[in-house]
Amino acid sequence: MAPKAMTHRPHWLKPSAVVDLRLVELGIRPAFRTETNAPVNDADIGRWARRRSLYFCRDAQDFVVFAKTPLLVRYIMTIDRSPGDHVARLGHWLGYPACCIRSARRITESNLDLWSERVAARRHIGNYACTKTGGYRAGRAMISHIPCSPHCRASLVMATKVSERHRTVSARPWAARN
Ligand SMILES: [Zn+2]
Repeated sequence: MAPKAMTHRPHWLKPSAVVDLRLVELGIRPAFRTETNAPVNDADIGRWARRRSLYFCRDAQDFVVFAKTPLLVRYIMTIDRSPGDHVARLGHWLGYPACCIRSARRITESNLDLWSERVAARRHIGNYACTKTGGYRAGRAMISHIPCSPHCRASLVMATKVSERHRTVSARPWAARN
């Protein structure tokens, strides 16, 4: 029998957010921000979040922040709503590596998508292949930020923790039950 998927994804959660959820559940990052994929009411999001010991806050544009404390959720939402460039502050509270935040800040918010494609297209040597984010939107990535380079050590540490944990759980299907 195939092992049960480690993380069941509700219809309204983007495939990419599964990576973020895993990082937060493993305590590697404190929070994540995503956008709902389909119509869903707050009560359903709330029930799903509570089962995972997470708090959430949703804005009028259907962006949702999840974190383990309500204070952090509200703080991240406040940063998100504040005017101006908030890449660095948001990145810090979402738990991205400092080196990658510095790069994102240099690139500026409007050029992040293009930069992400460029980094993903570069050669990732050896273990660094697990820091590739080309499959992020489809939920096939081990990290959810843009690494500052194809040889970012901090991103490698993060991706390795996620993949090790994934292997352990997959090898013990009974441990994957909720
Ligand atoms: Zn980095």
